[in-house]
Amino acid sequence: MSADSRFPHLLSPLDLGFTTLKNRVLMGSMHTGLEDNKKDFPKLAAYFAERAAGEVGLIVTGGIAPGVRGSLMPTPSGLFNRLQVPRHKLVASAVHDAGGKICMQILHGGRYSYHPMSVAPSAIQSPITPFKPKALSANGIEKQIRNFVRATKLAREAGYDGVEIMGSEGYFINEFTTAHVNKRTDKWGGSTRNRYRIAEEILSRCREAAGPDFIIIYRLSMLDLLPDGNCWDEIVEQAKMAEAAGATIINTGIGWHEARIPTIATMVPRGAFTWVTARMRPEVNIPVVTTNRINTPEVAEEILARGDADMVSMARPLLADAELVKKAREGRPEEINICIACNQACLDHTFNRKTCSCLVNPRACRETELNYLPVKQVKAIAVVGAGPAGLAFATVAARRGHRVSLFDQADEIGGQFNMAKKIPGKEEFSASLDYYRVELDRSGVDLQLSTHISAEDLEGYDEVVLATGVYPREIDIPGINHAKVVSYIDVLNDKIKIGSKVALIGAGGIGFDVAEFLSHSAERDPDQSHNHFPPSSSAQSSRSTEAFMREWGIDRTFEARGGVKGVKAQPPKSAREIWLLQRKLGKPGKTLGKTTGWIHRLSLAKRGVQMLGGVSYERIDDHGLHISIDGKKQLLEVDHVVICAGQVSNRDIADVLEENGLSCHIIGGAHKAAELDAKYAIREGSELAARL
Ligand code: FAD
Ligand code: NAP
Ligand code: SF4
Repeated sequence: MSADSRFPHLLSPLDLGFTTLKNRVLMGSMHTGLEDNKKDFPKLAAYFAERAAGEVGLIVTGGIAPGVRGSLMPTPSGLFNRLQVPRHKLVASAVHDAGGKICMQILHGGRYSYHPMSVAPSAIQSPITPFKPKALSANGIEKQIRNFVRATKLAREAGYDGVEIMGSEGYFINEFTTAHVNKRTDKWGGSTRNRYRIAEEILSRCREAAGPDFIIIYRLSMLDLLPDGNCWDEIVEQAKMAEAAGATIINTGIGWHEARIPTIATMVPRGAFTWVTARMRPEVNIPVVTTNRINTPEVAEEILARGDADMVSMARPLLADAELVKKAREGRPEEINICIACNQACLDHTFNRKTCSCLVNPRACRETELNYLPVKQVKAIAVVGAGPAGLAFATVAARRGHRVSLFDQADEIGGQFNMAKKIPGKEEFSASLDYYRVELDRSGVDLQLSTHISAEDLEGYDEVVLATGVYPREIDIPGINHAKVVSYIDVLNDKIKIGSKVALIGAGGIGFDVAEFLSHSAERDPDQSHNHFPPSSSAQSSRSTEAFMREWGIDRTFEARGGVKGVKAQPPKSAREIWLLQRKLGKPGKTLGKTTGWIHRLSLAKRGVQMLGGVSYERIDDHGLHISIDGKKQLLEVDHVVICAGQVSNRDIADVLEENGLSCHIIGGAHKAAELDAKYAIREGSELAARL
């Protein structure tokens, strides 16, 4: 099939001189956890092979350490001896067999390495690791450089098409190239030239070792987001140096891991950082790649057509859908399962040392285990509830060949996702529902909305699947029936006009989201809106990008060092006074996602929301909410008290069926309300559908 005419820039080949990439999509490096264990390499090979078959132009592996000290984890995994070559050969040849190209990222963790043998330019501990690194001697530096060269040679031997040298995000090379943690006074520190020397040495020696016909990508930190990060002139100097030293491509790195500015979470507008790469592009004569929050072919095409970059890097979107590029080329972009930038199954897993996957695609990194094969015996299946669990089950089961009827009492699909998508910064959740609408249609599910189902409606089916979700938990506090008390559902469905002073009982995921919703909704200033839909609306997108940069204090003119030095963040204050409360001691928000919880906490704190732990709820009356903390009584004079105190399973139908001795499958919130999230609901629905 010929290329879709909507994506001419995205789908055009890129000639690198000695080789040509089939399109402008680079799959950005992601640590999946499968790299850490020799026995998992067949799974890693299958994972990459699916992305290669999905027509990604160039794949970059997760970070592979060039030596023991540079390894991110205590159990060293990397490419530093011949014995490790065969497992990498498996990966490279699987990708080649599927028609793709792949580079191995060489990642030296520096002071971000999570073990006591870590090394860095200076002995300065990072705020995100418990180990103080050893400052390298001149000999030690030489050894690390040689390790990069050895890894490059071994990568070539393993059959990779190239390497990416990781020079950003605050890892080893980046630690040398900025003055933030490089306090050296020898030839490796001080002047810009001295700080960049390590990158220059690594690049030129790797080029010499690999020969001219091997891709070398340099991932350059183009925006450190630290007050003592580099200024623009220094970054340009580094890019020119990288080109002269033999880099084939320059990839963009945005922000050190320790920078307290969100760069990829769902509230970051789509394509928010491409202006950085756009500024670099005229400075060099080699292709540049732009990155961060580019999750649809429409957004990518717009960025490339504007001339911001020669290629786009997509990482998480290719976890969500291995066929993203192929679907774009074949003119079916609406079939793409969109990454909603939640981080819940990818980065959160990585940071919790679990194998990475994807909330919207539980097959990611499990390609050899979870497969949706055609059924041998077609069954008639009733599914009650079209929330994430029911949608995942129905679409997978129907695609396998079952006859599936899906019922929901609501007049739209999505269940709780219809509330989630209303939270400012979570608009991406509606992209998932768009995907399911198309998928229901394609897979031939018989969808019946506005249809309340009871147990007696479920006769005559071969299988019954209950995905009826949850009810909000009812709590018992004196005055709970007072007119001031409302549920989060009424708030998010705009059923109630909420006053200017509000207390939220419960500070879990939903409490935080409702606080975000209420702290925004009084403003509704379109300029502050993070709503960046539709994907191709550049006016909307650039306006929300401006608002985001102002909120987090990022200087788009790049006058400020690191893009932030001396820039005052201007978060909009909430027009409402909001208290977010929990009974547990300590600061609310500890149970939120590892890589996004800090953003929610910081964002609400900046807006002036008061977060209190160790709260006892005494009573609710005309005056407000009476609480005590540490035995001290307080009155919160609020207009409304919103209950966000968790949820319980909706087992109405399940209980009747069980009473009558009838069997059924119960999934999602209906099965388990405690610690329920969409990751669990979608995975459970998909796994059941793969089995039935
Ligand atoms: P539900 O989504 O509750 O769907 C159940 C469906 O069943 C409903 O559509 C209902 O109408 C239907 N139903 C029930 N009974 C019947 C009946 N008798 N007949 C017909 N239909 C019936 N999770 C995350 O992972 N990440 C997040 O960031 C996140 N944010 C959230 C933000 C908010 C504001 C909310 C409310 C939830 C959020 N969640 C999030 C939670 C996530 O949405 C739920 O975990 C998920 O929706 C559960 O899916 P489910 O299919 O089990 O149930
Ligand atoms: P939750 O995370 O379990 O939080 C419930 C909150 O209510 C807690 O703060 C709890 O704290 C409080 N609570 C529980 N019982 C109470 C009682 N009897 N009286 C008063 N307070 C009580 O549940 P949720 O916020 O409803 O979220 C539901 C699910 O959706 C969660 O599992 C979550 O994973 C998912 N979700 C995820 C996100 C996300 O960003 N990842 C966002 C939204 C929702 P105390 O017991 O300390 O008071
Ligand atoms: Fe994207 Fe969330 Fe999937 Fe990660 S888990 S790839 S952020 S949708």
